[in-house]
Amino acid sequence: MKTTRGKLLALLATTAFCVVPSTFAQDAPTLPEGVSVKFEKTENQPAVAIATVDGVETRIEAFEPLDKLPEQVREYVRAEWTKTGEFPAKTIKVEVDVTDAPEAAEWAESAKNRLIYWFPKIVEALDGKDAVAKIPDDYTIRLVFKNMDGVAYAAGREITVSSNWIKKSPKDFGLVVHEATHVVQAYRRGEFWTTEGIADYVRYYVSEPRSRNHWRIDPERSSYKQGYGITATFFDWMIREKDPEFLIKLHRALRARKNGEKFFAEEYQTTPDALWKEFVETL
Ligand SMILES: [Zn+2]
Repeated sequence: MKTTRGKLLALLATTAFCVVPSTFAQDAPTLPEGVSVKFEKTENQPAVAIATVDGVETRIEAFEPLDKLPEQVREYVRAEWTKTGEFPAKTIKVEVDVTDAPEAAEWAESAKNRLIYWFPKIVEALDGKDAVAKIPDDYTIRLVFKNMDGVAYAAGREITVSSNWIKKSPKDFGLVVHEATHVVQAYRRGEFWTTEGIADYVRYYVSEPRSRNHWRIDPERSSYKQGYGITATFFDWMIREKDPEFLIKLHRALRARKNGEKFFAEEYQTTPDALWKEFVETL
C-alpha cells in the first residue's frame, strides 16, 4: 500500500514543477506516466501551462482554449486552474463580427479569448470583487472589425477595432483591454483625462505590468490632464502611495457624474494639481 508520502513522491516524479494539490481527492485528474505539466505564474499575468508529452512541449496561456493542449493533460490543467482561480469566475460571451474585414478573423479569435479572460478582472479592478459574481450570465460584448482609420473605440457593449491598425501592430491585444475598460466605465458624462487615464491604468498596470515603462514624464511639461499612460502612471502612484481604494472610489464618483476635480476635493480635500506636483517630485 502506498502511503501519502509515497503518492506525493510519485506525483512529484511526474510533475516537473512543485504544484502539489493540497488534497488527494479520489476524482482529481492525474497525469499518465511520462507526461508532465509545469505551471508558471507571474503576478497579474495569465498563468502559463507547459505540458510535455512524449518529449514534445506545448505551452498555453490561461486565456487560450484547452484543446490546444494534448488530450492527456487537459482535465488536469482544467482542474488546477479552476482550483487556483485562474479561470474567470464568470464567463462572458463575445460575438465576433469580421464581415467587413475577414482577414482579421484569426486575430479576432485570439482577442475574443483574451477578452473573456480579462473582462471579469477589469470589473474587479473598477467595481470590486463582489461585482464579478453580479455580471449577468448572458452578458455579451460584440467585437467588430472594420477597415477604418484610427485604432479602436467602444460604444455601449460594442468594441470596434481597425483592421488596418492590427495589420500594422499585430501584437497590440492590449487595445482590447483598454476598450473593454470603457465598456465597464459607461460614464454618462465622460471626462477625457480620468476616463482615458483609468483605461490605460487597467491596460498597463493590471493586464500588462511588464510593458508599462513607455512614458517619460517631463516634470516641466507633462500633465495628468494628458490622459492615457501619463495619467495612468499618476494613478498608479496614487494607489501605491495614497489610497489602495483610489481606483474603485474614482470610478464610483465618475459613475455618479462627478468630475475628477470634484472627486479629489471631496475624497482627499485637495486638488489633482497639488497631488500631481507631489508625485512629480518623487521622479
Ligand atoms: Zn480610450
